[in-house]
Amino acid sequence: MPELFAQVILPLSLHDSYTYKVPLPLQQNIAAGKRVIVQFGKKKLYAALVSALSDKKPEGLEVKEVLEILDEHPIIFPTNFKLWQWLAQYYCCTLGDVFRAALPTGLKLESKSKLFLTGIDEPLALSTKEELIIRQLQEDVSLLSELEHKLGTEFSFQALKSLINKKVVYAEEKISSKYKPKTEAFVKLHHSIQSEKTLNEKIDLLKRAKKQQQLLLHFCAATNTFSNNQLDEIPKKELVAGTSFSGNLVKELVKKKILAETQKQVSRLEEEPIEQVSINLLNKHQAKAYNHIKETFQSQQVTLIHGITASGKTEIYIHLIDEIIKTGRQALYLVPEIALTTQIVKRLKNVFGNKVGIYHSKLNSQEQVEIWEKVIRFNENPQEGYQVILGARSAVFLPFSKLGIVIVDEEHENSFKQFDPAPRYNARDMAVVLGYQNDAKVLLGSATPSFESYYNALKGKYGLVNLMRRHSEMELPEIIISDIKRAYKRKQMRSFLTPELYELMEEALEKQEQIILFQNRRGYSPYVECFTCGHIPKCRNCDVSLTYHKYKRRLNCHYCGFSYQLPETCDNCGSPELKTRGYGTEKIEDELKSLFRNARIARMDLDTTQSKNAFAKIVKNLEDRKTDILIGTQMVTKGLDFEHVSVVGILNADNLINFPDFRAHERAYQLISQVAGRAGRKHKQGKVVIQTSQPDHLLIELIKDQNYQATLKEQFEERQLFKYPPFYRLIKIVVKHKNVQTVDRAANQLAQQLKNHKQLLVMGPEYPLISRIQLWHHKEIWIKINRKLNLDLVKAEIVAGVKSVKQLPANGNCIFNIDVDPA
Ligand code: ADP
Ligand code: ZN
Ligand code: ZN
Repeated sequence: MPELFAQVILPLSLHDSYTYKVPLPLQQNIAAGKRVIVQFGKKKLYAALVSALSDKKPEGLEVKEVLEILDEHPIIFPTNFKLWQWLAQYYCCTLGDVFRAALPTGLKLESKSKLFLTGIDEPLALSTKEELIIRQLQEDVSLLSELEHKLGTEFSFQALKSLINKKVVYAEEKISSKYKPKTEAFVKLHHSIQSEKTLNEKIDLLKRAKKQQQLLLHFCAATNTFSNNQLDEIPKKELVAGTSFSGNLVKELVKKKILAETQKQVSRLEEEPIEQVSINLLNKHQAKAYNHIKETFQSQQVTLIHGITASGKTEIYIHLIDEIIKTGRQALYLVPEIALTTQIVKRLKNVFGNKVGIYHSKLNSQEQVEIWEKVIRFNENPQEGYQVILGARSAVFLPFSKLGIVIVDEEHENSFKQFDPAPRYNARDMAVVLGYQNDAKVLLGSATPSFESYYNALKGKYGLVNLMRRHSEMELPEIIISDIKRAYKRKQMRSFLTPELYELMEEALEKQEQIILFQNRRGYSPYVECFTCGHIPKCRNCDVSLTYHKYKRRLNCHYCGFSYQLPETCDNCGSPELKTRGYGTEKIEDELKSLFRNARIARMDLDTTQSKNAFAKIVKNLEDRKTDILIGTQMVTKGLDFEHVSVVGILNADNLINFPDFRAHERAYQLISQVAGRAGRKHKQGKVVIQTSQPDHLLIELIKDQNYQATLKEQFEERQLFKYPPFYRLIKIVVKHKNVQTVDRAANQLAQQLKNHKQLLVMGPEYPLISRIQLWHHKEIWIKINRKLNLDLVKAEIVAGVKSVKQLPANGNCIFNIDVDPA
């Protein structure tokens, strides 16, 4: 037998790939696309992905051996891997970075992984090694590294993998603070009690502890312990419900190793029965647009549909998907926000039934792996696999094998961009690459296309289709500009409402119509100020003022998550007069309650939508007309579809317009148009009030006229002049260090180095708006790149520059993040 070597990708940022020797017994079974266990560093084990095999022995160092093969079948296809390579190259990161972003947590075992028992009944046929793992996990061991350590040579990755396959164990990379799987406490007998005889002994043992004995007997009765129809565990809630037993009493028995308590993961997904309905007929404008799209697809891989809000883009997407799946191919439907999946999935499931799967990062790792597998399975067994995937950005990594179309809805949204960590990719742009690599068509859709995409369409790189009529001849809303400054001067403001908006709201409430208010600040007030000395409390880790959250009575940092008790007195002068300043959504909700006493008010922002179903619930209440006024942040702007909203208020357009970013006007236009689009969707024209202190601002006028083309033209002129996208490419480099002098020096060195390349326009280094986050000082360098230059060469120069500066002895601990096409 010749020697065989595997190139593998590890979930590390250092290099693209590493080589391991494949020992003889594993040679039969190894293949690219499968995961293997390898040792890296002193003692750490990882699940790595085989990217290629070769019989050439690598030069130089001795190579370690592959320890085990984890998968029976490859978990990604060669075409999927092509996307990884493209991504690493384009975004200047390693394949290891891509690995981490691409695979769901459940497929990324490493020593740091946390393991849990799912609580599923242990299957009878367990190997000794599997048993050992379960016993350890029952004893509160939860880190994979601990498990390796405790079991030593008895530990087997294969056994662990097998337990994961049997759904007895699940793995989390790290527990995210945002989403925790929902668990419920279950009670069962301690595993040392295996027979009725030992149970009876235990019961006798409790003679002196009557209450505990009663509880144990009650448990046996409730679970039919050791009877034939076994039901030997019970939710703790159920066990104590309606009894005088307390949770603490259960704990006593757990301590005595008579009962055992386990946390079982329970599903949050409420599977609703689906009744399949037939697809809506397109109206004549939609049909025309649909045909136009198909026509452009003859000659173009990618088409942009510019269709105003409520024109029926979603209907067109559904028709396109329908056509593709009839040919046996798969469809990917990307939306910018997980929250949006809730409304669209209903519409998709209505038409496509259980062919539809949803994929996003808030699913628990088991669910993610299940969906991953169902997408793989489609290749060999279409009936059992998913053919249509609705997903947020990470869905571009799913193992598609027969992709026919990719739809990117609300393609202008910057939540398609991953900011941190690397790869800093934009899923919209990845969708385009996916299209080329799989020979699938790509449709980008928006009511307010990103200027980049529109530019590509104008240049002939993408097809362009317009749909400028709302469905069933609904009218676009009337936009009213309301001058905050003037209203203040005339003392006409009602709290934060101009008289125009206030009156329209009263009218709407009278007619039992609904209202949406938009404010892009959450919390109670964006900052707190000392009335005596003007001091503003700031985060101790970040260069930002703290937001007051009244409900929790705390000051929060929205950058690092740090939370502080609201001080009684000013830290600076000791004065007790601390005033809250400005309006966050929480305060607006509060004041609305006193302004409109009879109205039912709801709030939608990051704070009220933490749990997975909270968003859906707020939406449902609005749909069911159980909410009269909804106040919210960005979240309310996106694609929500309500019938009875007649008034939309944008409470402060100024901070959108004045935001210091070259895209500020584009964003403001998009955001306001999108929120405005929520008004008057059926039967009658809605009204949108924009409160601003700059009523004569050109952009406000353009928004009032809903003049996308003029906004684009005005912005294009400016961007051309100042060399911004889409006319130039941008790469941003963020230099970080805890010491401000180090950041300064390293950033200067890098900028100097880059400025040696005469064709590059290097801006900075400069401090960003928020120059310190979580104790790390930041400095940015922006590089504007002429589109005529060879981008690969430019990137190679930038990467080399970063490398050489990083290698300087004093810069070892500096972080350099390269962000290609920053959003
Ligand atoms: P967009 O995605 O462009 O904002 P939607 O597809 O959400 O627009 O359409 C807006 C509303 O009009 C939705 O409630 C949708 O169900 C309805 N609608 C649009 N087109 C049709 C059609 N051809 N038949 C029936 N209802 C339609
Ligand atoms: Zn003070
Ligand atoms: Zn902070």
